[in-house]
Amino acid sequence: MAAKTYKICCLPGDGIGPEVIAEGKKVLAAVGAKADVEFIFQDHLIGGAAIDACGDPLPDETLAAAKAADAVFLASVGGPKWDSTDPNAPRPEQGLLRIRKGLGLYTNLRPVKIYDALASASTLRPEVIRGVDMVLVRELTGGIYFGRRERFYDEEGAGENGGRGQRAYDMMEYHEYEVVRIARQAFEAARKRKNKVTSVDKRNVLETSRMWREIVHRVHDEEYPDVELEDLLVDNTAMQLISRPADFDVVVTENMFGDILSDEAAQITGSLGMLASASLGDGVSLFEPSAGSAPDIAGLGVANPLAQILSAGMLLTYALDMTEEAGWIEAAVERVLNEGWRTRDIADESTPADHILGTSAMGDKVVAAL
Ligand code: NAD
Repeated sequence: MAAKTYKICCLPGDGIGPEVIAEGKKVLAAVGAKADVEFIFQDHLIGGAAIDACGDPLPDETLAAAKAADAVFLASVGGPKWDSTDPNAPRPEQGLLRIRKGLGLYTNLRPVKIYDALASASTLRPEVIRGVDMVLVRELTGGIYFGRRERFYDEEGAGENGGRGQRAYDMMEYHEYEVVRIARQAFEAARKRKNKVTSVDKRNVLETSRMWREIVHRVHDEEYPDVELEDLLVDNTAMQLISRPADFDVVVTENMFGDILSDEAAQITGSLGMLASASLGDGVSLFEPSAGSAPDIAGLGVANPLAQILSAGMLLTYALDMTEEAGWIEAAVERVLNEGWRTRDIADESTPADHILGTSAMGDKVVAAL
């Protein structure tokens, strides 16, 4: 019997999901064997597959299993089969939103790392991206996306120019506890990495940002004085991310800024099939690739499983505190890439045909490199 046992709730979902999650499990099992840890994988339905089985993209049984697990390992959901014009038809993506809500996941972590072997996929110059290894920490359940909003017709013409017409507003609101808990997640993540946090706001204009900065500094001074902290305005961050991306470690910001900056940061790598992500709350956390279900290549056995495998690495770090073992996965992926092995999506004209692998063969290479 292994020294420790962990229950992993697996949600293969749709499209390439079942193919890539199989490789993620394979790698986790191999790590477990080496670390004397047993992972018990339990598959459950989500998304389109769950709609087909029982008409609900997140069956109660799936949410209950997720809550009872040590971590949730998700692939992706969705596909043209469930794209209905009927607004009342259940949609696969509702499963994602509901599981995030059900688990109280208020933090999204997206690592952005440049693998030297794939540097040519980036649209930025090689000398700019060398050494990029950062994590974006985005607040996920507050701010302007969840604030009060309204749109109305101004009959009176009370607007500044006295003109009648439509008027709309979206309210950006944060509570102290929301900033405190996301700041803690960022500082904790930094302690597992290079110990530096960049907090992004728009303090020169927004009151929410002035409060954000004050609270982030208080949490830092009282609980994490060992972590280096810098502040950056969001517009400046957008520039710095592409001019000196290698200087960042952990970047923490509110929901909308994070939505925009995380896509900008992801584009630095240029390889969608390589991007992992984690969603954390105060209980069970969830790990998944950033990309979708790629229906165009589902069932062909050619999908890149590396984002799913790197998500398994994040699961070890953030859910099970197995940072060293997560490092094994990172190193194995790097080694496989350095040896020239590629899936179709990350191959280029210089890749020999016999080095282009299918989904399962790529998983096997990572296991062998562990
Ligand atoms: P997508 O990310 O699924 O695919 C975009 C392109 O990237 C496609 O050409 C696809 O083949 C390729 N790609 C993605 N992942 C790949 C991988 N692992 N290996 C090789 N190539 C890969 O985005 P899309 O086409 O806009 O969306 C398809 C479906 O996925 C939609 O139903 C969408 O709603 C859903 N979706 C789900 C999630 C999620 O589950 N978190 C996220 C985004 C989109």
